[in-house]
Amino acid sequence: MSEFLPFTRPYIDETAIAAVCDVLRSGWVTSGPKVLEFEKQLSAYFGGRPVRTFNSGTCTMEIALRIAGIGPGDEVITTPISWVATANVILEVGATPVFADIDPVTRNIDLDKVEAAITPRTKAIIPVYLAGMPVDMDKLYAIANKHKLRVVEDAAQAMGSNWKGKPIGSFGDFVSFSFQANKNITTSEGGCLVLNNEEEAKLAEKYRLQGVTRSGWDGIEVDVLGGKYNMTDVAAAIGLGQFVQLDAITAQRRKLAKHYFKVLGADFEVQTGAQLPQEDYESTNWHLFQIVLPERITRADFMAQMKERYNIGVGYHYAPIHLFKLYRDLGFREGMFPVAECVGKQIVSLPMFYAMNEADVERTCAAMCEVLALPPNLR
Ligand SMILES: *Cc1c(COP(=O)(O)O)cnc(C)c1O
Repeated sequence: MSEFLPFTRPYIDETAIAAVCDVLRSGWVTSGPKVLEFEKQLSAYFGGRPVRTFNSGTCTMEIALRIAGIGPGDEVITTPISWVATANVILEVGATPVFADIDPVTRNIDLDKVEAAITPRTKAIIPVYLAGMPVDMDKLYAIANKHKLRVVEDAAQAMGSNWKGKPIGSFGDFVSFSFQANKNITTSEGGCLVLNNEEEAKLAEKYRLQGVTRSGWDGIEVDVLGGKYNMTDVAAAIGLGQFVQLDAITAQRRKLAKHYFKVLGADFEVQTGAQLPQEDYESTNWHLFQIVLPERITRADFMAQMKERYNIGVGYHYAPIHLFKLYRDLGFREGMFPVAECVGKQIVSLPMFYAMNEADVERTCAAMCEVLALPPNLR
């Protein structure tokens, strides 16, 4: 059988490995000069906006909500199709999550449904850029400005994505990125938050490290409840090594996506009943290449056949958040967000990573077409 092809694999080159070794030998392995250098480079990429790094792309969103003063009694609108972290941070600050259904084409939150879900208690929107595809950013900020809402962009998957030529993160309100292992660029675990001004950045630093501020010549003071969320220099060294490759990584993923469309051809959807992602080589960074399977095959069956017959790893992103027990216990029910429920049941992520080549795409397409074409009695 052919070698295992995973749905994703991080690409860490020898330069990054050497940089990590330098940090390990330096005697300073926690937050230090590498973190500052990484933040400086990120800030330059985001057009000079303040950026702070953290140990995840989850605490970034929680901290953004805290900086915005969002808490008990406040409602925050988000999408049901994301990693559960997106909604958990709303509960974490004591606010109330409100879901708005998704758009079946982009699979992102439907902004008309966001507007319909706004109440006098709504304080913020957390849009998610699934697979790296941004929402209509003009429309998002028009809604936010009209209703005086804060925005915490969950751009965890969108490093390298653009809106009308501007990098995601270089404009807007709070923008959160993740450097978790599967993301387009990684620090093993980590994240960063783009903020609006130095005042917010100072607050983010406090929340990042137990609420501590330095005051006086040797004194420290604690005036807010913070956590322990700092990035280490070991992680930042990996991040610096990855960051120089961002453009190459994005270009390669776009090339692979284009090849998927070419190999599958214009008839693929009609012949199989599966739905391809939106074709785009300008906005999205192709963090994931996702298809929605036809009703006649279960996701579990598809994934098992791809693995067992063809040695190809397929992932899925994501099951609808509102149907997890934690959220059902809050009153959410099946039937509330029908588009998200349909997509969430049948969506799969095909192999897509920097070190993959066009032959891997062809192998995946051939395997997938065989799995999808077989009638159930022959499987
Ligand atoms: C990865 C991811 C997160 C969480 O990031 P971590 O760094 O793992 O905490 C949140 N939202 C989305 C959409 C993600 O893909």
